[in-house]
Amino acid sequence: MARDALVAELERIVGRENVRSKPVDLAVYGYDAGLATGRPRAVVFVQTTEQVAQVVKTLYKKGVPYLARGAGTNLSGGTVPPDGGVVIETARMNRILEIDLENQQALVEPGVFNLTLQNALAPHGYYYAPDPASQKVSTMGGNVGENSGGPHCLKYGVTSNHVLGLEVVLPSGEVVWLGGRAPDTPGPDLVGLFVGAEGTLGIATKILVRIMRAPERVVTMLAIFESLESAGQTVSDIIAEGIIPATLEIMDNLVIRAVEESVHAGYPTDADAVLIIELDGLADGMDEQADRIMELCEKNGVVSARKAKDATERAELWAGRKGAFGAVARLRPSYLVCDGTVPRTQLPAALAAVREVGRKYDLMIGNVFHAGDGNLHPLILFDARDPDEMARVHKAGSEILKICAELGGTISGEHGIGTEKLKEMAFVFRRADIEFMRAIKAALDPKNLCNPGKVLPEELDAALAA
Ligand SMILES: Cc1cc2nc3c(=O)[nH]c(=O)nc-3n(C[C@H](O)[C@H](O)[C@H](O)COP(=O)(O)OP(=O)(O)OC[C@H]3O[C@@H](n4cnc5c(N)ncnc54)[C@H](O)[C@@H]3O)c2cc1C
Repeated sequence: MARDALVAELERIVGRENVRSKPVDLAVYGYDAGLATGRPRAVVFVQTTEQVAQVVKTLYKKGVPYLARGAGTNLSGGTVPPDGGVVIETARMNRILEIDLENQQALVEPGVFNLTLQNALAPHGYYYAPDPASQKVSTMGGNVGENSGGPHCLKYGVTSNHVLGLEVVLPSGEVVWLGGRAPDTPGPDLVGLFVGAEGTLGIATKILVRIMRAPERVVTMLAIFESLESAGQTVSDIIAEGIIPATLEIMDNLVIRAVEESVHAGYPTDADAVLIIELDGLADGMDEQADRIMELCEKNGVVSARKAKDATERAELWAGRKGAFGAVARLRPSYLVCDGTVPRTQLPAALAAVREVGRKYDLMIGNVFHAGDGNLHPLILFDARDPDEMARVHKAGSEILKICAELGGTISGEHGIGTEKLKEMAFVFRRADIEFMRAIKAALDPKNLCNPGKVLPEELDAALAA
């Protein structure tokens, strides 16, 4: 089918004003926050489930590949369009459809920003637990696609622990509901299958989530350490003590300095590591827990530690952490975030190994990470205009993920596989595991049109042999 005829058909479904096909517009949708790029044929702004279904049916009939895109902030190439494919942009499906406080549920469209939902819940004394650092701009649909986590996921779990039901447009264009309002829906956990599938099994058009009562009290602490390893050891000690804070986040010196220059969060720039610890829950007993945490920090040679005095100081401590990825752009023009996890007890070993990789490839690597759940985010800084440096970045990124896998962890804590970690899938899965995932994909999407080329390595033999 000629390009214009497809665009005309899409315009008929969603209206002319909701389709983009000029090269300059398409260029904007050719990349996300990862490193890969692509060239779509058209971008369609959908507003209703019916439109999504009609667009998908049309593309299915014509054999045109497509993908769902929220804000395009994913870090693994998940929304890089297949050349000549169509981007289905959900940003205009951005209504909060229902907040049901009695049943502690909210129903949203996929284009709602995570923070918009939080802001709507806050006046009622409720919140939605998954809080990716990108929450100001990342959408609930994208959070579902990537099974996103965030600083508070240590205690409360990631997106898949909070999604109760989904309305989904399948690759055939049919609309189905997975899961639902009842606490225990019969049959297999299809919501669990869909969350984290990176938009390869269909497009979520409504998302039913669990919401929670805001905690009675929150205590936020900042501890400064002379070494990254002692900060990591403190994290292990706190959990081993049976205390589960809402958050345990670490930043290393490189990131601290970048953050201070950009956000002025009040971190000491000569510290080798800062650890942010946040306790939340019932007020009763919280001071005792905070005191015990202080003792554990001291045991590991803390240089100084303090509690945020009020909400403003707490917000300042968090502004630094949440602005960390953006801040490192001051040091080098680009960065690659490696998103591996290791068992908490392996944190010191993993951090030492990451430092070694930086030395080996002569690359600047900063660390900012969800330490409580062993989710490392080594930030490899580089200049993409230098091809030699780029080659070293790719090798270093892959090597870091291999280290995580060898230490008993895995290759993605929350950022997904996308196009960027296809060959690394072989670090953690065997042939039979990947074939099983492929069989599910083929059953739902026999023409392989729904976000093709993501998650599952097409060249399986090459990946397994690498
Ligand atoms: C500065 C920064 C900080 C970040 N911090 C975190 C963090 O703390 N934790 C974390 O987990 N991630 C983090 N991320 C990564 C990113 O923000 C998350 O992956 C986020 O969930 C992506 O949302 P999005 O709306 O941008 O989705 P997109 O990037 O548009 O899409 C992500 C994936 O979901 C699929 N998708 C989108 N919409 C739908 C839908 N309706 N149905 C089915 N699939 C869909 C897409 O096809 C794609 O595969 C960060 C990114 C940046 C740039």
